[in-house]
Amino acid sequence: MYSYLRDGRNAGKMGIGKMENSLLIAGSIAIDLVETAQDKRDNILGGSVTHALIPSGKQVPVIPVGIIGSDFPENGMDIYKKFSETMENVQQVSGQTFRWGGKYHENWDQRDTLFTELGVFENYNPVLSDSAKNAAVVFLANIHPELQLSVLDQCTNPHLVITDSMNLWINTAKDDLLKVLKRTNIFLINEEESQQLTTRENLADAAEQLLQMGPDTVIIKMGSRGSAIFTADDCTCIPAVSDVSVIDPTGAGDTFGGGMSALLVLGESLLNAVSEGTAWASVCVEGFGIEKTLRTERAEIDRRKAEVLSGVTTC
Ligand code: AMP
Repeated sequence: MYSYLRDGRNAGKMGIGKMENSLLIAGSIAIDLVETAQDKRDNILGGSVTHALIPSGKQVPVIPVGIIGSDFPENGMDIYKKFSETMENVQQVSGQTFRWGGKYHENWDQRDTLFTELGVFENYNPVLSDSAKNAAVVFLANIHPELQLSVLDQCTNPHLVITDSMNLWINTAKDDLLKVLKRTNIFLINEEESQQLTTRENLADAAEQLLQMGPDTVIIKMGSRGSAIFTADDCTCIPAVSDVSVIDPTGAGDTFGGGMSALLVLGESLLNAVSEGTAWASVCVEGFGIEKTLRTERAEIDRRKAEVLSGVTTC
């Protein structure tokens, strides 16, 4: 069950070229402002690609796809170079890097977007290199679904397509998002977004409807209550790591997706991959932006992952 690269409909697609063990991650590369009830950080490295790149780049060759402006900081560039297989799909053009600001309420349950400044993303038209086109696994991290489609159109025949999105695109670009979902294997979505996209309150009902939109697996993320993996035949509940001290939840979903995608590139089971993503997400929230994800060692991930795996149940 839940083995993607080694069985099922994807097995026949193996052997497409030298980048067959690589992970393409397309999404936003950002400079963030984050305000919590306790603290505030400005000009920190963020974006869906950034958060996904670090846990995955520690384990498999990753090809980030995105755009940055002339203001992109040197230390950000160093981080990208360190965790990427190639930087040839990170375009740098004159202008401002995508900027996003968010403010959390006291209990973390709610986040207000303070601003979203598209900057160089406004006129972005991704053109993939040959190595990117041949990536085995494609993670379409959060970005306008039109850009996700453009990336997907250029990929030659990925074994596996994993998609993430957000409430903004459900509200403003639903038709394009539905086109992406038709070509998606694994769809990552949080609880509120699943209700928003389907108008179903009950998670199992929402998942059933989401599965009809194209993906063969839907993973609903529920923050501190963990996540649930839905397929046509099964539902598996994955707990969150316990005793986590939240400092800044920004990017937890992207970090989850990056950690999970890397293990799928390695041919691990989906259960193992989701537990890996869960462990990395628990690390992400314990620091501002990427700071804790950057400095966490493998042993700590293994410890957290073992805890998660020991609590897996059938829903
Ligand atoms: P998350 O907490 O998982 O929603 O991810 C937050 C990250 O996504 C931040 O680092 C932001 O820079 C980035 N982000 C916020 N809004 C958008 C958007 N509209 N499109 C793409 N990325 C975004």
